[in-house]
Order: sequence, then C-alpha cells, then structure tokens
Amino acid sequence: LVSLRNVVKRFGSHEVLKGITLSIDEGETVAVIGRSGSGKSTLLRCVNALETVQEGDLTVAGIEVTAANADLNLLRARVGMVFQSYNLFPHLTVERNVKLALKRVRKMRDAEASEIAHAMVAKVGLAEKLHAYPDELSGGQQQRVAIARSLAMQPSMMLFDEITSALDPELVGEVLRVLEELAREGMTMMLVTHEMNFARTVADRVIFMHEGRIHEDGPSQEVLRNPRTPELKAFLAAVL
Ligand code: ATP
Ligand code: MG
Repeated sequence: LVSLRNVVKRFGSHEVLKGITLSIDEGETVAVIGRSGSGKSTLLRCVNALETVQEGDLTVAGIEVTAANADLNLLRARVGMVFQSYNLFPHLTVERNVKLALKRVRKMRDAEASEIAHAMVAKVGLAEKLHAYPDELSGGQQQRVAIARSLAMQPSMMLFDEITSALDPELVGEVLRVLEELAREGMTMMLVTHEMNFARTVADRVIFMHEGRIHEDGPSQEVLRNPRTPELKAFLAAVL
C-alpha cells in the first residue's frame, strides 16, 4: 500500500531524509520511533504529499505520488492524517465537525453524512457527545473526534503523528484503545509514537529512524526487545 524507494527530502541544503526505502502492506500497523529531529514527521508528511521530495519514488494507495501528474487530492482522500493538535472547529458540534468534509468535499446529502458521522462517533466511544461542542470535551475526547472525522472519509490508510503527546497521562489510554481497535480491524496505519509499550503490543512492525535514515526495521517485539544497533539501544534506554 506504501512504497518508497530511495526517497530524499531536503529543506534547502539540510538533508532531512537521506534515502528512505520502505514498503508497507495492507493491514500493517507500523510504529515509527526515533529521537527528536530524526525525520519521523517529515516521513509521514511525505507519504501524504504534504512535503514534496527531491529524489526517489513514492507510491501510496495506488497513486504514484512522485509522478508529475499525481492527483494529490485523491491521495489525501485515501490517506487520513491526525496530528498532535486536533484542530476541531470550536463553533461546530461533534456531529457537524465530523460531517463537514463529507458534505463539503464529498458533496454528500445531509442524511447520509449524518449516518456516517453517527457511526464513526460511536466507534470512538463518544455517541453521547454527538451534540457537544469541542470545549465541552476533554483533550482525549477531542482527539477521538479528530480520529472519527478522519475515518468518516473512509481512507485506505491512516497516519498518526504523536497524537497522544499533548494529552494528560490519564487520557492517553482512551485514545490508544481506539488505535488498537483500528489495528485489530485491519486498518493500515503508520504512527509516530513515544508509547513504547503500545508500539510493542499493538504495532506489527517498528521502524527506528536515526539522522534521516531507517536504522532498524522489523517485527515490533524483536526490534524493541533486541535492538541491534547502539543507537537504538541508547534511544530505548532513554525513553523506557
Ligand atoms: P520530533 O520528535 O521532535 O517531532 P521528528 O523526528 O518528527 O522530530 P522532523 O519534524 O521530521 O523530526 O524534522 C526533521 C528535521 O527537519 C529537523 O532538523 C527539522 O528542523 C527539519 N525540518 C522539519 N520541517 C522543516 C521545514 N519546514 N523547514 C526546514 N526544516 C525543517
Ligand atoms: Mg515530529
């Protein structure tokens, strides 16, 4: 579903991704870990074409992203992304936040959009909050609404960039449980996370980024239990 070959990303003369080769199969849950500045967010942003790459080939959800005529709107419809900040519209209820893109982008009728919105909000465990406004919800609940909004577009895969990092510790679990459920249902996911227990138990695979390269890549239990490189050993010792 995702295939990168020798992808290089530079900001000016600063090479942030130094030749990434990676493929992700349908249904895989891949955790991306690594130190601050190692290129994790940039990698995710390249997959969604929020950044353009300078070298290499990138194919995502059937779209050759690096081709000159790539349909980036179609790409972004197929690839959902959730960030650390949830960016809900404060003046809209949960229901209307989730319905907005269905109506504006998909041009769906109101009844149909409502049906999908209700199903997605229920899926993230917030059926009783359908008519609440974002400021009436906790951070964890708002983040779950952001996930519901993204899922409503029925993406082929999801990208999550440190979606629990801004949350109070007691709210992290409820968001991770939603991801766990998605993984179980077979959603293809790439997620940047600092939650090593979550990565070990839920992700099929862990990618360790170091200085713009994939330094280790393998089954999550193996990579996290038996790091092969001194860099990953040092990273795990620092975060665990
Ligand atoms: P963190 O764990 O802190 O989120 P990260 O692994 O996600 O870090 P990136 O955000 O991908 O790291 O950044 C990798 C490098 O690219 C950093 O040195 C950063 O300063 C640089 N960088 C990222 N975005 C830009 C940009 N828009 N312009 C210039 N440099 C950038
Ligand atoms: Mg980042």
